[in-house]
Amino acid sequence: MKTVYFDNNATTAVDSEVLEAMLPFLRERYGNPSSIHSFGGEVAKPVEEARNAVAALIGASPTEIIFTSGGTESDNAAITSALYMCPTKKKVVVSKVEHPAVLTLGKELERRGFKVEEVPVDSKGRLDMERLEEIVDDSTAVVSVMWANNETGNIYPVEKVAEIAKRHGALFHTDAVQAVGKLPIDLASSSIDMLSLSGHKLHAPKGIGALYVRRGVRFRPFVVGGHQERGRRAGTTNVPGVVALGKAAEIAARDMAEEAKRLAELRDRLEKKLRDAIPSTRVNGDPDNRLPNTTNISFEYIEGESILLLLDRLGVCASSGSACTSGSIEPSHVLRAMGVPYTAAHGAVRFSLSKYNTDEEVDLVVKELPPIIARLRELSPFWPPSEK
Ligand SMILES: *Cc1c(COP(=O)(O)O)cnc(C)c1O
Repeated sequence: MKTVYFDNNATTAVDSEVLEAMLPFLRERYGNPSSIHSFGGEVAKPVEEARNAVAALIGASPTEIIFTSGGTESDNAAITSALYMCPTKKKVVVSKVEHPAVLTLGKELERRGFKVEEVPVDSKGRLDMERLEEIVDDSTAVVSVMWANNETGNIYPVEKVAEIAKRHGALFHTDAVQAVGKLPIDLASSSIDMLSLSGHKLHAPKGIGALYVRRGVRFRPFVVGGHQERGRRAGTTNVPGVVALGKAAEIAARDMAEEAKRLAELRDRLEKKLRDAIPSTRVNGDPDNRLPNTTNISFEYIEGESILLLLDRLGVCASSGSACTSGSIEPSHVLRAMGVPYTAAHGAVRFSLSKYNTDEEVDLVVKELPPIIARLRELSPFWPPSEK
């Protein structure tokens, strides 16, 4: 059975060009770029070329790029650095729909005595800008709002939020893990101070990412030890990972515009065909302002997990965003923040596409999913919904 992979916001396949680029650094060129001898020193240049490629993808300068272990580390590093650098300011402002990499850090910071405020979103997942303006004040050290949401694909007005943060002397960080490689980004003409990205969301391997820190923004390392990354991130350079990320960045920069168009058409077709064939569905998020590859659809009155299990039997990978806490299934914090009704939040399924998805794969889901939904609804005590 062939795997049909519609879970690209969770992780992506490594591009074969990326794999080819990194292989020499796993085989013969295994040196440490910090070494004195030329065998090691010779891998320093490919690392700097990769840094150039990552910088170019987001309109940054290479000296503003710090390689990390991924999105989670970059998020942690950015926010904790901001707090350390502004010791008199104790407030952190984030959105309610951030990735757990940010929200869980927020909980930890609260335990350490910081004040963490979560800005609400509306029913389409759009940020409440008025509340944000009220919450951000002169005691705010850092504001962190994601560029695009991993569950709904919603795109956030990060430039506007950065300007509000600036007005109060706060730093602005954005988790752009889902945006980088999917949306054009030009940090040179932006007020964003720090930005997180992750390799495995753009066809590089897991365990490599980067943090952009704008020139002039003071930064304290999160991982301390040796002097790698000009003293900003310790640990022996992950040369194969860095080279892979550089190659993935180069490919994304080259193909993004064309690919975004193709993906949006594929995604829109999947979404429309499913909604035409299946009653009582709703699209979660803001259809007018989201990533080209993501659709989050609720099949009301049934459990998303049951749908995923039956899709899995056909080799189809998707995701629900729910979290299993103490045995019961909780709808995702993102859908809860949006106030999605209980019966819809439980039936949410996210399809996230990549450049490797095809028309045939969309056809398969469009054919197989409606009978699955019908069968599950027959078993549901809530179906058919009673007339009010
Ligand atoms: C995947 C993801 C992360 C975590 O990145 P890792 O590299 O897996 O640590 C953070 N934020 C968002 C929005 C993500 O989608």
